[in-house]
Amino acid sequence: MGNIISFNHHVTADDDSLVMSNGLTDVLLDYLLLSGADLAQTDSEKRMMVFLGEEIQSWYGSGTVGFAITDMPWQPETFAADRDFLLRMTAHAREMTLQPEIHEMLGYKPSPEHISYALDGFSALITRMTAADIQPEELKKWLSYAEADDPIYCGYPRCPKHKVFLSCVGCKICIEDLGKYPVEQEDLDQLKKFWYGTDAAPQGANTNEPNQSPLC
Ligand SMILES: [Zn+2]
Repeated sequence: MGNIISFNHHVTADDDSLVMSNGLTDVLLDYLLLSGADLAQTDSEKRMMVFLGEEIQSWYGSGTVGFAITDMPWQPETFAADRDFLLRMTAHAREMTLQPEIHEMLGYKPSPEHISYALDGFSALITRMTAADIQPEELKKWLSYAEADDPIYCGYPRCPKHKVFLSCVGCKICIEDLGKYPVEQEDLDQLKKFWYGTDAAPQGANTNEPNQSPLC
């Protein structure tokens, strides 16, 4: 079992789809999330990070978090900037794989060979994306799944410990730190108290976003 990040879900044996073990998938996503936490500035960049932060195998199940690059929340207005951001973010993630303090934070040191394969593959897929490949319904569909009190509508709150942008599930790295499979709803409920500093819904307290939903 493993996960595939493809360009557009049409996978053939010798195409450029990124085929990874479940473990390598987690390693790639951990580094992308930490890197994006350093670099994302605009709403569309933060949305990209929230999308990646939803891919949590200990919640959704091992081998279930593959996706297509065209599934990501692209929009024509910010396409060039968002693609540039994702390439810079991937390059910064590569630098972070060499940093001892990041190894300590994550509790593991990635295999240089494996993480390079994953970062190279992800970067190549992002490079291939063009404005003509945008599927406008994908962004609408993704936004329609979000509840009014989800992070994307509440100022993009971050994990206080790892600084990553929280997805509707929470912080992937905190969830992995529990060392549980599968994670239960009550585990997430406990973590929410830490992420949001309260039992209540998201506060968006760690951002400067002005457009807070009344439900947050
Ligand atoms: Zn965390």
